[in-house]
Amino acid sequence: MLEGKIALVTGAGRGIGRETALTLARYGADVAVNYSGSREGAQNTAAEIQAMGRRALVVHADVTKEADCTAMFHEVEDALGKIDILVNNAGITRDSLAVRMSEEAFDAVLDTNLKGTFFCMKLAAASMIKKRSGRIISVSSISGVRGNAGQMNYCAAKAGVIGMTKCLARELAARGVTVNAVAPGYIDTDMTAALPERAKQEILSQIPLKRMGSARDVAEAIAFLASDGAGYITGQTLLVDGGMGI
Ligand code: NAD
Repeated sequence: MLEGKIALVTGAGRGIGRETALTLARYGADVAVNYSGSREGAQNTAAEIQAMGRRALVVHADVTKEADCTAMFHEVEDALGKIDILVNNAGITRDSLAVRMSEEAFDAVLDTNLKGTFFCMKLAAASMIKKRSGRIISVSSISGVRGNAGQMNYCAAKAGVIGMTKCLARELAARGVTVNAVAPGYIDTDMTAALPERAKQEILSQIPLKRMGSARDVAEAIAFLASDGAGYITGQTLLVDGGMGI
């Protein structure tokens, strides 16, 4: 499905990013595996991709820094030749009720989830416009669609990702580039592992499919949006949430 394509996945050392990188490779893509912080997870992801017979490049960039993102795009294009698929996955949470939320926590979440996505979208757009093809897929969240108590910063960022997706989809439609988002619900990763048991049960009771999602559930939706089969879909946000957002 993705034979001959080159993908760049941000935050691919663990969780949804890691599973997305592996899934894109399983469908035939070569993958640049971005990380910030520890390199080990990204190296493991890359090793698994190489074991499938695909090319993999481990590339450092803190997506909150535009210079890092610019250097990352150059490094990937120099090493792998082009970028056909960008997956903006890197994200963090800093939850607290709005009345207690610090400016620092607000800025940190906006910087990573929103501004980091903006930098990478901008760089991918510039590169994909030249070859008149490409797929940009960003990981938003159900929280950005319907809001969530204790996540004012995260909801603002993830709603912003949906807004940027619609904007860029319109800007790039005539250039053969599609721009979409996925909005995962409650997915079993390190991000949700620390939730107290009572909160987990409360969330589970709101999911019609009665289970947490897996990183693979999200990765398969991303792979579909990256595929030729999704060529007539742009500006959309696909909820991967077990029906939570119905
Ligand atoms: P995770 O914490 O396991 O993974 C996040 C990844 O982003 C990590 O690899 C981390 O190193 C990377 N990252 C963080 N800041 C970065 C930066 N500045 N530069 C580069 N990389 C950075 O969590 P996850 O659940 O796999 O989350 C992946 C994405 O899915 C995030 O955007 C998250 O907001 C979103 N999401 C997760 C859930 C869920 O339930 N787990 C639900 C909705 C949306």
